[in-house]
Amino acid sequence: MRNLNFKNKKVLVRVDFNVPLGKNYEVTDDTRIRGALPTLNYVLDQGGSLILMSHLSRPLKKLNEDGSINVQKFTLRHIIPSLSALLGVQVDFAADCIGEEAVEKSGNLQPGQVLLLENTRFYKEEESGNADFAKKLASLADMFVNDAFGTAHRAHASTTIVAKYFSKDQKALGLLMGKEVMNAEKLMHDTPHPFTAIIGGAKVSDKIQLLDTLIQKADNILIGGGMAFTFIRALGGKIGNSLLEADYLTLALELLEKAKARGVQIYLPKDSVISDKFSEDGEIKTVDSYQIPDEWLGLDIGNVAIDEYREVIKQSKGILWNGPLGVFEMEKFAKGTFEIAAAIAEATQNGAFSLIGGGDSVSAINKSGLDDQVSYISTGGGAMLEFFEGKVLPGIAAIEE
Ligand code: AMP
Repeated sequence: MRNLNFKNKKVLVRVDFNVPLGKNYEVTDDTRIRGALPTLNYVLDQGGSLILMSHLSRPLKKLNEDGSINVQKFTLRHIIPSLSALLGVQVDFAADCIGEEAVEKSGNLQPGQVLLLENTRFYKEEESGNADFAKKLASLADMFVNDAFGTAHRAHASTTIVAKYFSKDQKALGLLMGKEVMNAEKLMHDTPHPFTAIIGGAKVSDKIQLLDTLIQKADNILIGGGMAFTFIRALGGKIGNSLLEADYLTLALELLEKAKARGVQIYLPKDSVISDKFSEDGEIKTVDSYQIPDEWLGLDIGNVAIDEYREVIKQSKGILWNGPLGVFEMEKFAKGTFEIAAAIAEATQNGAFSLIGGGDSVSAINKSGLDDQVSYISTGGGAMLEFFEGKVLPGIAAIEE
């Protein structure tokens, strides 16, 4: 966007203001609003005006009993106080993202002024990527900037289709989006070696494509979380009641074979913290991950695994982390996840490039207080994963075409 001239232009910006709200609909975490500020301030400093659009939650999935939209709950009006304070400009609002009010208010915008449009997901045409709806949004402005990395993997009207109504010199990626792409490319295209990917979380099925791409790129893959047990079972281990996706046993073996053929080291946790209940008040002990007694379940990686993973991380120059290594929401099964976070921070201090992506690993790194000691924390969970899976993100492609 730094190559475009925004002077006296009305600039439509797709932002990600899908923020968490409290009891009185106050913004409880403004990270996403702050993330958009560099782009918004850039346009204003250049003498442009802003028309901002975003979705907030999924209002059409949570309708009132009479079938109407719960405007009180899902209106973007809630974020005006935070946004105005952070921008230092009183933000105006259009109670419908298309239609007369939006047309009139955007028509009257002066340089330096900011108009926020109502939740784009009040229209079903948003998620279906309807062309007429996108055209109406586009007609409000002279230029378009997409700064919503978190929704860049969706071909929705306001994230992708709208870009088709602007020529190449009228549209650009925003600064947050640029930062996300640059950091992801640093790992995927100019990969620093040794490159270690740490993949955890609940299910193998969610991460198959990711693992498949990483086998082409990584030197080491450290597996943790519930998904490790499908691999351990596939190798003949006894996993008790631990998470198992029985349909993925063959695929798990194939992935291990593929990695071996390419010389990629895949690590599975040698020991696990197990319990006889999926809660913190059961009996807890640490055992060999391949010898979990019947009725018990693995809920975290054990100390032997932590030590082994830490050594690998320490030797790495590129690190990608997605997914917790245990049920870190419960304190008694959080150690593995936090020890791995600490090892990543340490490797980063010693010169490694580390990228954390995916909702749960981001909240784990924030909770550990080490968020300022890693190289980059991605704001886009699903979008970042699809980027690493090698997919073209439609929201980015639409700007480039
Ligand atoms: P994902 O969304 O796939 O990254 O999975 C995150 C979830 O996986 C978290 O809520 C964790 O509690 C859960 N998880 C991590 N390790 C395990 C495990 N060993 N057993 C069951 N769930 C787990």
